[in-house]
Amino acid sequence: MIRVVVSGAAGRMGKEVVKTVWHAEDVELAGAVDAQGAGVDIGILTGMGEIGITVQQNLDEALRNLQPHVVVDFTAPQVVAENARTILNHGVRPVVGTTGLSSSDINDLSKLAQEKGLGCVIAPNFAIGALLMIKFAKEAVKYFPHVEIIEQHHDQKVDAPSGTAIKTAEVLAGQRGDFHQGLPTETESLPGARGAEFDGGIRIHSVRLPGLVAHQEVILGGVGQTLKIRHDSISRESFMPGVLMAVRKVIGIEGLVYGLENLIFED
Ligand code: NAD
Repeated sequence: MIRVVVSGAAGRMGKEVVKTVWHAEDVELAGAVDAQGAGVDIGILTGMGEIGITVQQNLDEALRNLQPHVVVDFTAPQVVAENARTILNHGVRPVVGTTGLSSSDINDLSKLAQEKGLGCVIAPNFAIGALLMIKFAKEAVKYFPHVEIIEQHHDQKVDAPSGTAIKTAEVLAGQRGDFHQGLPTETESLPGARGAEFDGGIRIHSVRLPGLVAHQEVILGGVGQTLKIRHDSISRESFMPGVLMAVRKVIGIEGLVYGLENLIFED
């Protein structure tokens, strides 16, 4: 049995993870941590009814008492790096879904995981379909190097652009090499109209509206044609098979893996 603590358990993603872990046969819910809802049974918060596991406020204390194998973190960009350090320092493996980690945070965590001889998975997107979208776009950009990304999320998301959009742009820019798109003389009469500019002129546009979950379209343009590769997460359940896969795999690895695709795709 893999003993799992969920950090950010009272949040939108955390609640979904709590339910998934609770119902999985080879994984045991060891505890729930969140800055809100301390003392409340996490089963009540997730609509499952009482399960005898109450929300704890302090991650450090929870890890000392519960000694899990894995912590799944879906909290907030401003606390995730510190949480991941705390988890590794307790000899526990982090599976991080929280977005907004900088590359220097990721480098530091990678060194710490290596030093401790522990596995650590950081994945900006746990939806397998989203990873396939990036994989297909990487193939397509070889033939259609002009590309823009439109990502759409619910209006409670605090960071923009999404971690998935940044990851997509990184992969596509890497595949294109020195290519630069866009008109050098282009101007914006309303600042931001052309979105955020990534390396080589790849633009990322972020839409935030109630009713959305997580959606992304990669648009590739060629002479007389466009190709659109789109993924929609229409519910948070879409992330759960990927989260469980990471929980199972993080036990058997040493060091940090960034991106679930590096755990599941063969090439
Ligand atoms: P949310 O605001 O609903 O939940 C976050 C929870 O974290 C809240 O309950 C909050 O109280 C708690 N929290 C904040 N600081 C904390 C701390 N220091 N210790 C413990 N708990 C703390 O947000 P959400 O929609 O569940 O998203 C959480 C994160 O997951 C965001 O960064 C989001 O972008 C990311 N996300 C990732 C994926 C993925 O596939 N990787 C998918 C969806 C969302």
